[in-house]
Amino acid sequence: MSQYDVLVIGAGPGGYVAAIRCAQLGLKTACIDSMVTAGGKPTLGGTCLNVGCIPSKALLDSSHYYEHLTRHVAEHGIKVSGASIDVATMMKRKDKVVQTLTLGVASLLKKNKVDTLAGHARFVDSSEVEVVSAGGASQRVSAGRFIIATGSVPAKIASAPVDDRRIVDSTGALCFDAVPARLGVIGAGVIGLELGSVWRRLGAQVTVLEALDTFLAPVDRTIAEEAFKLLTKQGLDIRLGARVTGTRQGAEGVAVGFEWQGASQELQFDRLIVAVGRKPNTQGLNVEAAGVQLDPRGFIVVDSDCRTAQAHIYAVGDVVRGPMLAHKASEEGVAVAERIAGQRPHVDFNHVPWVMYTWPEIAWVGKNEAELRAEGRDVRIGQFPFMANGRAKGMGETSGMVKMIADAATDRLLGVHILGANASELIAEATLAMAFDASSEDLALTVHAHPTLAEAMHEAALAVSQRAIHF
Ligand code: FAD
Ligand code: NAD
Repeated sequence: MSQYDVLVIGAGPGGYVAAIRCAQLGLKTACIDSMVTAGGKPTLGGTCLNVGCIPSKALLDSSHYYEHLTRHVAEHGIKVSGASIDVATMMKRKDKVVQTLTLGVASLLKKNKVDTLAGHARFVDSSEVEVVSAGGASQRVSAGRFIIATGSVPAKIASAPVDDRRIVDSTGALCFDAVPARLGVIGAGVIGLELGSVWRRLGAQVTVLEALDTFLAPVDRTIAEEAFKLLTKQGLDIRLGARVTGTRQGAEGVAVGFEWQGASQELQFDRLIVAVGRKPNTQGLNVEAAGVQLDPRGFIVVDSDCRTAQAHIYAVGDVVRGPMLAHKASEEGVAVAERIAGQRPHVDFNHVPWVMYTWPEIAWVGKNEAELRAEGRDVRIGQFPFMANGRAKGMGETSGMVKMIADAATDRLLGVHILGANASELIAEATLAMAFDASSEDLALTVHAHPTLAEAMHEAALAVSQRAIHF
């Protein structure tokens, strides 16, 4: 039986990063993953690389180019005729991006001398797991420490059972073979809006059914309300407060019944994406045998250091509390590896940035205005629209704004919220500033290059003390 210092279960951004860091710190490490490609080959990188962040962003980029070419370049004097979308080529490119990155993870693990084991892990007891390969071969592996990084899977709803044909989850929506004429999406969360945007840009008529009356409940209201206007103007038909009652398959496609605005409604779709959240994945892991506890929602219970009830077993990423984000998983993975090696790492959970890759993009770090007001905080707010930013004008990307919230007494930044082109990149400045406890004045005193979108960050910081120059 193989014996390791550390056994990592799951090779997503939580697990593979933890394994590399363990090996860098001199620990004999193995990483187990059960995921296989559509062709049945073992693959590393988890949800993020195979069926999450990376393929979705590849399709968002392809569809963004297409929409830009067909709708926006004319105003630059660029004439395009006969543009069309070849879905098969777009998918092949996406698959190639995924393959390159997953093979990259394999070579990183190899370079760092991490053993990789392909198969499903199941705890036998608190010091040993059984690994069963896709072909049925079984082996026992033991270790002094374990890091559980088994991620999450799509949540299901009884009213719309996924059949992987017409009714799909996010994984299915990443590999349609044609643009559906009528696409339904259940859930106006991050997946629904990102993947709904992909297929809308390519020509689908997209209807999004959201149970809540509030659009993007976790997002700052100023940003969410503006995003709602922009996304609906683009053509996403978002129905808030829609309660899906059932689905019916027929020759015409899939009929979705829902209660909306006090009446029973039905819409026909060619494809339906169910994107109603994700749930922690501990299926078949037999954590009970290891003495590891789950909370009522199925998350592995850990303390702020990612330690379970068993001091030698840690858990990181989507399978534990906190945001289900790849970068959060990786930071926890690194911190756990360093803790195992005797170091005293720190994860700044207060400053985990969020990005939604709609266009314009939505990004934020820290708290939103409603959360701060609910806490009774006295705040000052600076806002700056991209409409007044020279670079945004030149790019033709004038939608949205930067909203900066600072403590009224200390000026310390408490939240930064962006709706705009490249918000995903701009948020890094705010994250760094907040991680260093910066004030809005610190950002206001920082020289920003001209002309850049980042100048909108500078102006929003100036606006906190009512001294924005260009608005
Ligand atoms: P995962 O990436 O889920 O990896 C867990 C791995 O463990 C899997 O490979 C699984 O096969 C393996 N495993 C599970 N159980 C066992 C077992 N018993 N034995 C062996 N192996 C096992 N996040 C972002 O930050 N940015 C984004 O842009 C983004 N986009 C996304 C888009 C989509 C469509 C989806 C679905 C998710 C997206 N996410 C994004 C979320 C992100 O993918 C997750 O937060 C991240 O992958 C979590 O990492 P993890 O390591 O915890 O788990
Ligand atoms: P989500 O929580 O973002 O959104 C789910 C939405 O579905 C919510 O608005 C919810 O109110 C709605 N909903 C739930 N049940 C419903 C029902 N029965 N009918 C209609 N609406 C219903 O979840 P998601 O979009 O599935 O994404 C899951 C997670 O994956 C995200 O929370 C995020 O952590 C991660 N993710 C991140 C990114 C990113 O960082 N850009 C991208 C994709 C996914």
